[in-house]
Amino acid sequence: MACIVMKFGGTSVGNCELIKNVARHVKTEIDQGNKVVVVVSAMSGITDSLIDYCKQISPMPDICEYDAVIATGEQVTAGLLAIALQELNIPTRSWAGWQIPIKTDGIHGKARVESIITTELEQLMAIGYVSVVAGFQGISSDNRVTTLGRGGSDTSALAIAVAIKADRCDIYTDVDGIYTADPRIVFRARKLNKITYEEMLELASLGAKVLQTRSIEIAMKYLVRVQVLSSFVDSVGTLICNEDEIVEKELVSGVTYNRDEAKITLIGVADCPGVAASIFGPLNDANINVDMIVQNVSDDNIHADVTFTVSKSDLDFAIKVLNKKQKDLNYERLLSDSNVSKISIIGSGMRSHSGVALKMFKTLAEKSINIQVISTSEIKVSVLISEEYTELAIRALHSAYGLDI
Ligand code: ADP
Ligand code: ASP
Ligand code: MG
Repeated sequence: MACIVMKFGGTSVGNCELIKNVARHVKTEIDQGNKVVVVVSAMSGITDSLIDYCKQISPMPDICEYDAVIATGEQVTAGLLAIALQELNIPTRSWAGWQIPIKTDGIHGKARVESIITTELEQLMAIGYVSVVAGFQGISSDNRVTTLGRGGSDTSALAIAVAIKADRCDIYTDVDGIYTADPRIVFRARKLNKITYEEMLELASLGAKVLQTRSIEIAMKYLVRVQVLSSFVDSVGTLICNEDEIVEKELVSGVTYNRDEAKITLIGVADCPGVAASIFGPLNDANINVDMIVQNVSDDNIHADVTFTVSKSDLDFAIKVLNKKQKDLNYERLLSDSNVSKISIIGSGMRSHSGVALKMFKTLAEKSINIQVISTSEIKVSVLISEEYTELAIRALHSAYGLDI
């Protein structure tokens, strides 16, 4: 008998028939004698509609009320799935995040889970109840509903799996595992049987939206076994596990893209100690994440140009913050470009092989794709290119590293 957290994403609960299908998946685990807690997303498209309602009423809605609205999608699904489970004679109840409670910090729209009180969940599980928890949400210390960022139900599932010491967390979605590239873009992408936590973390943070990055951080920290499976087809999914469980390590396990990048260049900032801190300090204070950074020193050794990327949605705000600081930073000009995308290759095999990055640069050069910014870590290389070449670049790289099926 195992204790399992089963998470079902938006497409898997996209209508009432699919919710009944999910209930049958849950019943299969129960019939095998397993104990289950279910975490659900909003039905597909619902969160987008709820965001749209808020924006129709105000272009800058109050963040607390915004969260109160957008958290409701998951509550509808939780209730509907509980009804579907009752129809199958499975004892069950639904939970909103605040009822458990799932306690978070107060950063609305991207709150982090701080603790989960599991007493009632565990008591119910012990007497054979299935708890259906609304994902994506929690409650702050000042008693307001918070949400965990887009794709946050994955994080709810992993956080609950840790809190109840589950043996496994199964993430059911609309693809049957983790692929070497987004299967919607690269038709020749290959399914991976296993992938390391580290690679999955890079894959997710570099754009593969199949799992929310924060959820992998939790899985990796607490060594939760995570399976990614399809709720539509019955096939073996992908196991996310430690490196020592993987015999055949891939040189490159995946190629990702992220269109949600925008580039800012500050021309002619002073080339002296403290300048980077004075640029990135105010952005940090404004909760704006900065991703890739390069600095070019000019010939005079007095001035430098600093280029960095932020998410597209933060671009206008970042420009506003930097314009406000123009006098202190004393830059000559600020340039911005939102028609960029970041392409990355990821693989733990890179640690022990040279020439991996070079192959990337050569492949892009052969397709006449200009590289604007480069950043690397031990197991990844990322480049910023013009957005129009995104698909061409991904397919060329996927093929160059021998990943095509
Ligand atoms: P859910 O609604 O179940 O949370 P998501 O839409 O968040 O599902 O994530 C599943 C989607 O992730 C897939 O439909 C697929 O297009 C996309 N995806 C991106 N990169 C990958 C990848 N490397 N492997 C599998 N799926 C990927
Ligand atoms: N419903 C939320 C979203 O669309 C959370 C999730 O699906 O994980 O982002
Ligand atoms: Mg998702």
